[in-house]
Amino acid sequence: MIRGRVKIAIHCKRCGERFILRGKQDRGRIETGFKQCICENVHDLDIEKID
Ligand SMILES: [Zn+2]
Repeated sequence: MIRGRVKIAIHCKRCGERFILRGKQDRGRIETGFKQCICENVHDLDIEKID
């Protein structure tokens, strides 16, 4: 499958918060619409695809 809807887990390495969202996968790029964590962390995140 090249594109489709996927579930994404985002784990903030700064505050430990975890988010589960739906994203769209397009040729390996994942779009989630996720902007930032509640602690304002933007870059220090673990992003994982859930199958
Ligand atoms: Zn955070």
